Amino acid sequence: MPKKFIFSLVLISSLSFIALNSHAAAWVKLSENKTSKLSIDKQSILEKDKLKRAWVKIEYKTPQKNLEFPDKEYNQAKLLWYFDCDSQKSAAAQVFQYLDTTLVHSAAIDIKNAEFIEPVPETEFDRAMRYTCARKNRAQTSAPKANPPATQAPAKTDTSPKPSSESGSVTAPPAPPPVVEKSADAPAPEPENEAAHSAHWSYEGKAGPKEWGKLKPEFATCDTGKNQSPIDIDSAIDADLRPLKTLQKFPVKDIVNNGHTIQANFKDGNNLILDNIVFKLKQVHFHTPSENTIKGKAFAMEAHFVHADSKGNLAVIGVMFNEGKANTGVEKLWKQMPKAIDKPVNIISRILPSEMMPKNLDYYRFNGSLTTPPCSEGVRWIVIKTPLTASKAQIEAFRNIMKHHNNRPVQDINGRIIVE
Ligand SMILES: [Zn+2]
Repeated sequence: MPKKFIFSLVLISSLSFIALNSHAAAWVKLSENKTSKLSIDKQSILEKDKLKRAWVKIEYKTPQKNLEFPDKEYNQAKLLWYFDCDSQKSAAAQVFQYLDTTLVHSAAIDIKNAEFIEPVPETEFDRAMRYTCARKNRAQTSAPKANPPATQAPAKTDTSPKPSSESGSVTAPPAPPPVVEKSADAPAPEPENEAAHSAHWSYEGKAGPKEWGKLKPEFATCDTGKNQSPIDIDSAIDADLRPLKTLQKFPVKDIVNNGHTIQANFKDGNNLILDNIVFKLKQVHFHTPSENTIKGKAFAMEAHFVHADSKGNLAVIGVMFNEGKANTGVEKLWKQMPKAIDKPVNIISRILPSEMMPKNLDYYRFNGSLTTPPCSEGVRWIVIKTPLTASKAQIEAFRNIMKHHNNRPVQDINGRIIVE
């Protein structure tokens, strides 16, 4: 329990019950250092009213003093933490402190009154939040809908917020952590709305690339544009281009399956300097096979690093992948690749853009467009000459999630020149 963290607790009147821990909790160790070990009960993770919550256990190597009652010492704390994954804030709702196996203190707060704060990076709160937010809760993944689990949560272990009464009394769970499996409360799995997505545009059939321009007036540029992407990079003019200037120190924040591609959004801070303009790296997404081709050759996969300047102008860096050795960045991303559409998943591991870019950043440059509707033009395109590799399994994993190829065919180059 971070000592700095202060929240108003209501002391539970009865401390007489003993800690029972016979529920089917599944403690997973998240971290351990010289002073403490942090675990989370992954069975307890639940999403409700846009909040995720989980029981967390901190085992201390030396006894800690209770901040409010310094005569009380404890070496283990079990806490019910709530996480607002969208705003990356958290709050504690219930606390149980034990000395060995004896409960010495417990407290609870109505989560509706709790102050949600941004956890200090790398604290227990932060680690538990990243883990919880990245996980699908049990009710959504494994609980069979028609067949609610027989295990009932013990009475009153429902940790859903209840308005606290004037007297401040709270209903305390007799045995944290409870296994909360009340199917009535559990959010039903949301249907994947891929059909709705592909109704707009797709890579095949009636809403395929040849039809994009006719699907909606806003998509007309897909048909009428003269600087469309992707292209075949056939003959380039040697222009003695300046080396690419990038800053790539900030990791991926979350990953989303938007039905057309898998997109990883970056934390702010990564930049590309082009034409003396600062473009901020927003996201990377993938296409199989590659969209741009080089001298007629298509690659197994292409990553697009999308950058935007302060006016909304775009610069995209394309990186090609041949089939070969696995890519570490892709590996970490794919571990959390979401199947469900438009449900971003927070990334636990640290993934830097540089892991998906070669060291040698020699490039081709040309003008182009978005390769998806509305096919807007005026995009600065950079395609890195040196390809990376991704394993066959990595490429197939992506294709299996997408269920189809997701590359727009190459477009006419018209009057454009490519420089290198
Ligand atoms: Zn793309």
